Amino acid sequence: MPYEYWCAECRARSPERRERRADAEDELVQHRHAAHGGLAPAAGDGVRHVHDESRGDGCLPSGSFLFFMFLLAAVLANCWGR
Ligand SMILES: [Zn+2]
Repeated sequence: MPYEYWCAECRARSPERRERRADAEDELVQHRHAAHGGLAPAAGDGVRHVHDESRGDGCLPSGSFLFFMFLLAAVLANCWGR
């Protein structure tokens, strides 16, 4: 299971996924030194699992959006039916 670090303050994350958690944590520490003077950013950062080979970041919001539109359409259809 690959890992990547993320930084909420910079909206940054690993340029590539790491097979070992320790490697991603090394990148996190390097980023803290490079961008935050060695401190943890106030907005938060961390290391997380990446589930897919493709990151799929575009899929989740669009999936939620489609689901929202489906709900909206269902509600509207319900209203018009009365
Ligand atoms: Zn940062």
